[in-house]
Order: sequence, then structure tokens, then C-alpha cells
Amino acid sequence: MNQNENPWDIPENVKAETLRRLNTRRWSRYPEFVANSLQETLAEFATWKPDGVIAGNGSNELIQSLLMVTVHDAKRVLISEPTFALYRQVTTVLDGQVVSVPLTATFQFDVSALIEAVKDLKPEVVILCSPNNPTGSLIEDANLRQLLRTAPGLVVIDEAYHEFAEHSVVPLLNDFPNLVVLRTFSKAMGLAGMRIGYLLAAPQLVTEIRKAVLPYNLNVFSQTVAEVAVEMYDRELMPLVKRIIAERERLVAELNAVRGLEPVASRANFMIVRTPMQPRKLFSELLARDILVRDVSGYPMLKDYFRFNVGTPEENDQLIGGLNEIMSASTQ
Ligand code: PMP
Repeated sequence: MNQNENPWDIPENVKAETLRRLNTRRWSRYPEFVANSLQETLAEFATWKPDGVIAGNGSNELIQSLLMVTVHDAKRVLISEPTFALYRQVTTVLDGQVVSVPLTATFQFDVSALIEAVKDLKPEVVILCSPNNPTGSLIEDANLRQLLRTAPGLVVIDEAYHEFAEHSVVPLLNDFPNLVVLRTFSKAMGLAGMRIGYLLAAPQLVTEIRKAVLPYNLNVFSQTVAEVAVEMYDRELMPLVKRIIAERERLVAELNAVRGLEPVASRANFMIVRTPMQPRKLFSELLARDILVRDVSGYPMLKDYFRFNVGTPEENDQLIGGLNEIMSASTQ
């Protein structure tokens, strides 16, 4: 329960149709130079323009491509921590300068501090993860609009977990040519092993970002399974997303009843939990019970926290059972 994946495997119908289509293709041939047919499917799925879409080998690849065309020579990238570590990592590798605004004490985006930082420092890029990994916080549309109006450069919203918040900022693309939206097939879509992500932005911007994307970046298998997953999303995948959301709400209630633990309400498929026991020790106790969570105590602001993602109902019961056992033993 440590990677924020979908706990259920991709449904059998999606696998079967993907394998059927793959059998009709020639594996000796390169895939499309640019994944045009998948990009058209994704545009329709996300309700955006086909020439405003880039499909990538995981959204990680697109974060890298985007920063490659924007960051160099100490250019500034504004982020809000704690967040997904890759933004800082790639910016640093590219000789950019990371500027970080902390989340508020209740782990919300500090919009006035972000706006101040944008005005003062004029960052080339702002990257916010919404819902945020690892805190599950969502940025409000009104706040994002304000940020988009103020920012002199790009504002990137990483929507890796948007399905679990049942919210997307894609409609704002119509009004803001400086907005970039990143999405992935690794979470709600149940395809982390297939490495598929996509980027949505104004077509002019997409033309520039594409300059840093390698040709043939998406293999035939990934292109095919992504198309099938989109076609079958409503019937095969959406019900699983709804179950994960319902389990998340059950888990918050049950964790609140575990002595000493304080879960933080989340809009994603994971949450952080405050623990009076050292997170490292709790991690080991859970691991001894075959439960793997994420020790996030080294992240800014999260010294007393661990993170886990929602599992199947059986896995969730096991987690709650394990935590009850550990916490009641520790407070006796
Ligand atoms: N963005 C965020 C916020 C993530 O948490 C992750 C995965 N942990 C990714 C992007 C990476 O996604 P992908 O598998 O599409 O590269």
C-alpha cells in the first residue's frame, strides 16, 4: 500500500481486447513516430484539442520534457512542499533553482504566499500537484485562476490523482494559455506497469514541449492498452474508482477510532496519518505483518506521519487490524 496504485488489476476484458489487437499488429515495425491515434483518443476522453495533447512514457517523462524546454541557467521553478519529489529532482539536475512555499499547517495550498512568490520571483514555471501527493490537498479553481492570471510563466497542475477527487482543471485550459495539465494511467486507470501519461496544454505550447520528447516514446503495447482502457473506462474502471473513494471514506472513519492516530482527510487514493509512535518503528511493525506503507517522515512537515494508499477492502481491513494491534500494545 505504498505506491498509490490501483489495488485491483486491470479488468480481464481490457487485457483480452488489448491482446487481440496486439496480435493483429506487426511487432517488427516501429510504433507511430508520434502517437497520433492515441492522442486523438485522449483528446476526446479529456475534452481537449488533439493538437494540444502529448502522450508520454509515464507522466514522469512529460515532467522531464516540460522542464527540459523551460529550465536552465538557474531559472526558477516554484513548488509547494511537501509534494512529489520529482519536480525538485529534475529541476535541480537541469540547473534550475527550486523555490518552495510550504503548505499551511493544515496541509492546504497557501495561495496568498504562492501569489506573493510569483510576483516577487517571477518563476519560469509553477508546478502544483492537485490532489497533492502525499497530503491529498486540492487547489480550488478560484485560487488557481488567480495564480494563472498573476504568473508570468507556466503553471503546471499534476492531476495524477484527479479521478479520486472527481474534479479536473481541464476546463480552465480554454481561458489560460499558460496552463499545463499532466495526467497518468498509473493510478485510477490501473496501468502503472504499462507506463502511459499525457499532457494537455495550448497547441502552441505543445509544439514547443514536443521538441524535448523522443520519437517513438510510446511502445505499441502501451499505445494499444491505453486506447482500450479509455474505450472501456466507464464500464470497467469507473466502478473501481468509486469503490476506492468509498473505502477511503471508511478508512478515515476507522483510523479516527484507532487510539493515537490522526488521519488527514484526502481527495486522492491515499492519505497521511499522524502517529504518536515513531513512523519508522510503525513502518517496521506493519511490515512484520506483511503490510507495506510509505515512511514519509523525512519529508518537510511530516516528521510524525506515514502514508498509505487505499487497498482492496480485505487489505484495508488488514491494515486497520494491524494498526489497532500495534497502537493498543504501545499505549498499554
Ligand atoms: N505525478 C505524481 C504526483 C505521482 O505521484 C506520480 C507517481 N507516483 C507520478 C506523477 C508518476 O506517474 P507515472 O507513473 O505516470 O510516471
